[in-house]
Amino acid sequence: MSAEDVPPFSNSAVDGYAVRACDVEVASKDAPVSLGVVGEVAAGAAPLVALGAGQAIRIMTGAPMPTGADCVVMVEDTEFTGQRKLFDGSQMVKIFRAARTGDAIRGVGDDVHSGDMVFHTRTEIRPSVAGVLASINCRQPLVFPAVRVCVLSTGDELIDDGSVLAPGQIRESNRTMLLGMVNAAGAQAVDYGIVVDDEEVLERVLRQAAEECDAIVTSGGVSMGDYDVVKSVLSRIAEMRWMQLAIKPAKPFAFGLLKSTTGREIPVFGLPGNPVSSLVSFELLARPTLRMMAGHSPAAWDRATILAIADSVLPRSPDGKVHYQRVIAQFKDDGRLHIDSVRSQGSHQLAASALANALAIVPNGDGIAVGGEVPTIFLVS
Ligand code: AMP
Ligand code: MG
Repeated sequence: MSAEDVPPFSNSAVDGYAVRACDVEVASKDAPVSLGVVGEVAAGAAPLVALGAGQAIRIMTGAPMPTGADCVVMVEDTEFTGQRKLFDGSQMVKIFRAARTGDAIRGVGDDVHSGDMVFHTRTEIRPSVAGVLASINCRQPLVFPAVRVCVLSTGDELIDDGSVLAPGQIRESNRTMLLGMVNAAGAQAVDYGIVVDDEEVLERVLRQAAEECDAIVTSGGVSMGDYDVVKSVLSRIAEMRWMQLAIKPAKPFAFGLLKSTTGREIPVFGLPGNPVSSLVSFELLARPTLRMMAGHSPAAWDRATILAIADSVLPRSPDGKVHYQRVIAQFKDDGRLHIDSVRSQGSHQLAASALANALAIVPNGDGIAVGGEVPTIFLVS
């Protein structure tokens, strides 16, 4: 609730002359009214003189309205005819336009009244909201604590130290991507690095994360491989649900709760290792939960889904799954969202999918022809 009016005093909306409407009601281009200039008031100054009949006060945008004045005529509709910048009433200004009471005045509390409930709970403090909070002197708004999210990747094949790749090694990419996605979702990512495929090591790192964080996002090790240690460790130390989702990509997925030593239950998202699967499952399954945990209102948990027009074919064959195809979406001159498939849809081909700004939801079937309509999740919000 605001304790102050915004604006805190009535002030001029333009640079011009503060006058009395009754003095200028007959003013026109051909028959201007001349008024004696008795003062000047700039933004930040308190008006020193009051305005009387037949008088005008030079006033700047944002300056407080002088007593006695009830409207402002913008400077473009005036002409100062005095010889000197002397505001004792001896110098005159011509007014070429009639004005009515209240013209070009911003009233006290025009934007916010003292006592107004300006924002409801769960309003995201976007930059514009922060500006409003500053304008009402709300210096310590009550906020939800940041959701600290452990991000780790698993796999003996992964390196991230810039060294030459040994046989069988690949460069880690999911963690770098997920750290950014967590932060972009409004949570606070904490980097727990690459964890080798070793149950003891992984258990130690997960237990530490449960003490230090509010949620855990892992990538890799949740499918059917012999070295899927995330699955074996979490099955033992947490209450997990292992899923094979009817979606493509991102079929394997795990969700569960890991207890900290103080009894807090930490949600764990076990994302698949293939980079595009990691990306899609984070978007669909982890992001909404993290936004809920961060205190966002339900309307802000999910991204917008918009019916888009396919500008290229979105091919697929029936497999019983919903496909989330990566597409480049763009609003075109017809006012509709149009989508183009990225160059390849493999779940290991992050370079192609990285350019996508939307996910087309392609239902089970034979795909979408050019011109077809597809519900599309717009990834930019
Ligand atoms: P996994 O789910 O552990 O069986 O991994 C599936 C595929 O994703 C394998 O080809 C892994 O090498 C790859 N992969 C797993 N984690 C990462 C990662 N953090 N960065 C890049 N590729 C990964
Ligand atoms: Mg692995």
